[in-house]
Amino acid sequence: MTFSPFRIQIYIGEGCNNLPLISLFEKEGFKIQKCELQSQENDWKYEFSPDIIILIPGKSQISGSDLKSISQSLDGSSDFPFIVVSEESNSKEASQYFNLGALDYLTLPKDDEYLRTFFRTRLSTVRRFQEKDRLINRLLEANGQLEILAATDVLTGLINRRKMFDICEQEIIRFHRNKNPFCVMMSDIDHFKIINDQYGHAAGDYILVEYSKIHKKNSRRLDRIARWGGEEFLTLLPETDLEGGGILAEKLRQKIESHPYFYNDKEIKVTASFGIAEFDEMSEIDQCIQVADTRLYQAKNSGRNKVVIEDDKTILKK
Ligand code: GH3
Ligand code: MG
Ligand code: MG
Repeated sequence: MTFSPFRIQIYIGEGCNNLPLISLFEKEGFKIQKCELQSQENDWKYEFSPDIIILIPGKSQISGSDLKSISQSLDGSSDFPFIVVSEESNSKEASQYFNLGALDYLTLPKDDEYLRTFFRTRLSTVRRFQEKDRLINRLLEANGQLEILAATDVLTGLINRRKMFDICEQEIIRFHRNKNPFCVMMSDIDHFKIINDQYGHAAGDYILVEYSKIHKKNSRRLDRIARWGGEEFLTLLPETDLEGGGILAEKLRQKIESHPYFYNDKEIKVTASFGIAEFDEMSEIDQCIQVADTRLYQAKNSGRNKVVIEDDKTILKK
């Protein structure tokens, strides 16, 4: 691992320009850039992103909000690490700066050996914390990706069955709070086995992906579509009553049927059947899904390519 030089951002207040300290930093090989505290914030130019701020306030008064805007001008955060250097010992000032988050308060003069050790050890500590932060962020990012992967169906990119159960649970909590109706819709591609048998498994996969895209494209952003099983999909329709669910299903049925599917230049005809149920507060989500499933099979039994929203009744059909 190559070690890059420590990078220091120095802010200098009125009436001081601590040249010996700056030349010591230069001798140590630290990269430094300087800003006058009394100049306009817009005039501060940064050539690199520093590890730490060294604040030499002199006679300038620095408030918490000054420090916040300094910090924000560097990396957008409000707690950039800083050390205060003062030319006279002032314990009241020191405790004020500590309260504002200073890592340390150094009183000059000190001999070069002390200063070298002081800054090298503080900077190493800052680097160690930065490295830890970086690792934690990477870990959080990786965890987020794992969470998405664990909730996603690899082939279609839709959410999977497990995730759908979590979402249903949330929806039920919302339902008990605001009593807005919601539906579940079970859909299943018709004679999918024949598609696989005639055109091959890869063609079947292509149909599943196309079906998912059409379903997604024609649904609301709030609707959640899960791949429930092989060629079976469960959709949660928040703030939608049975009638609304029926209208959506019929729209989807038509879109699925009219979409042209070509695999290896061969056209494949695809239709799907739909069963819908509205959640009712007397029942559980499993029962609601069961009702939608029963209606889906009623749609299958009455000829497929149909929508059923009430038992034994194909309300909307072609
Ligand atoms: P129905 O109209 O009654 O729904 O008939 P079907 O042929 O669609 O239903 P069936 O349950 O008999 O067959 C489903 C087929 O889906 C069988 C299975 O091999 C296939 N299948 C399940 N998962 C996948 C998959 O990920 N990719 C492909 N290509 N086929 C799959
Ligand atoms: Mg099927
Ligand atoms: Mg099926």
